[in-house]
Parts: sequence; structure tokens; C-alpha cells
Amino acid sequence: MAYKRPDGRNYDETRKIEAKVGIIKRADGSAMFSFGNSKAIVAVYGPRQLHPQHLQNPEKCLLRCYYDMMSFSVAERKRPGPTRRSTEVSYVTSNALKKVLKLEDFPNSVIDVYILIVEADASTRCAGINAASMALAHAGIPMKELVSSISIGKIGDAIVADLTKEEEDYSIKKDGKEIKAATDIPFAFQSRSGKISLMQLDGKVSIDDLKRAISLGKKMSKKIIEIQTQALKKVKEDKK
Ligand code: UDP
Repeated sequence: MAYKRPDGRNYDETRKIEAKVGIIKRADGSAMFSFGNSKAIVAVYGPRQLHPQHLQNPEKCLLRCYYDMMSFSVAERKRPGPTRRSTEVSYVTSNALKKVLKLEDFPNSVIDVYILIVEADASTRCAGINAASMALAHAGIPMKELVSSISIGKIGDAIVADLTKEEEDYSIKKDGKEIKAATDIPFAFQSRSGKISLMQLDGKVSIDDLKRAISLGKKMSKKIIEIQTQALKKVKEDKK
């Protein structure tokens, strides 16, 4: 039987997306992005001179991303402070974003990107990357293109977009045992070149299914780029 999504969405349908730019006055750039109940807010500071001096690179700017979840953003309170998971998400986020930034324009400098998840229901790294991409553009940092991120999942035989936590945890009974039957593949795509700047895999997937996932991810990322672009335009118009 074909997989039926718990919230009734089509396979190529995201949760409700909300995006807003310019939400934090003191930051050089800021944005909010949500997929349903997964909401990220981002503040960007910089480029500014990097201290201590020995960390400076005369050839390019350092991009530092800090991803964190608020303790009560999840059902089971998360202990405050960094974890192995948040270190990994910060690292892959920085990698996904730095490819589109002209970091060589700002030697000896640093750009700090603070990503805070205020509500979490899976795909939070994707919401964070989307908000961060908008916040960097809002900060006026030269970018070759935007980055849009979406999680694609394989659940049973279905390839679906924007997984919830319930879908990430989808399991089936086999030989009397519950086994995980969902594979989560978060992607980030560069808006103009279509290059993949993030791809992770939690689970197993065949080459054919991975191709289907990339193709759905590309299609969904176009919709996200459109929303990000509209949010950036709106903040410009509101300024006039
Ligand atoms: N989660 C949680 N507590 C944690 C970490 C994660 O409840 O300490 C939940 C949260 O809803 C998160 C989801 O698990 O969105 C999936 O986490 P994952 O590591 O797959 O990253 P994400 O899908 O959020 O990018």
C-alpha cells in the first residue's frame, strides 16, 4: 500500500513556510524561516575584524556558524549548551553557506552567524540554512547566489519532501520487531548554479532513490528560493 503522510500532504508538498527578513535590529542581517513547527531565527554580525589576531587570515574572511536549539523547542527538554549534534550541524551549515560567499573580499575578518531553533519538529538544519542565507543577504554581504535547503525522505517506497519528526521516526514491524523505515536526506542547493552544497544521509538509500531524491529536492528548492527572494524584496520595499 502506498505510504500516506500523517498530515495528509502530497509527497512534493512542504509544510506551511513562513519567511521574514529584518527581525533583529542590532544585527547586521537577520531572518526567520519556518517549515510548520520547525522555526529558525538567525542573526548575522560582520564582516568585522577578527580577534585574536593570530586567527586572522590575510587571504579571506572566516565564517563562523553557531547552531543551537532552545531547551524547550523540543518535547523532551534539551540540556542547554553545545552538543556533538549542534557542532556537526554548525559545521555542515557553514560548509553549505561559504561556497556562495565572496570571503576573499574581506581579509582578516569574521562573519558570525547565530542560528537559534525556537521550535523543532525535524528539518531544523534546513530551516536554519534558509534563514541564514537570507540573513547574510540582508547584511549586504556579497553573495554569488542564495542557498535553499530542504529535507527529502524515503519512507517505504515513497520519496517525500520536508519530513516531520513523526515521519523521521517512521517504523514498520518485521519479525515482531519495530525497525526504522525512514531515510532522511537533508539537501542544500545553490540558487543559480543548482549545485548541491549540503547532502547528508541518515539511513539507507539505493542509487536510483537517491537520484529521485535529488530531483525532488531541486524542484522544492526552487519554491524555497522564490519565498526567500520575496522576503528579501519585502524588507527592501518596507525601507523605502
Ligand atoms: N530532536 C530532539 N532533541 C534533540 C535533538 C533533536 O527532540 O536533542 C528532534 C527535533 O525535533 C529535531 C529532530 O529531532 O528537529 C531531528 O533531528 P535531526 O538531528 O535529524 O536534525 P534536523 O532534522 O532537525 O535537521
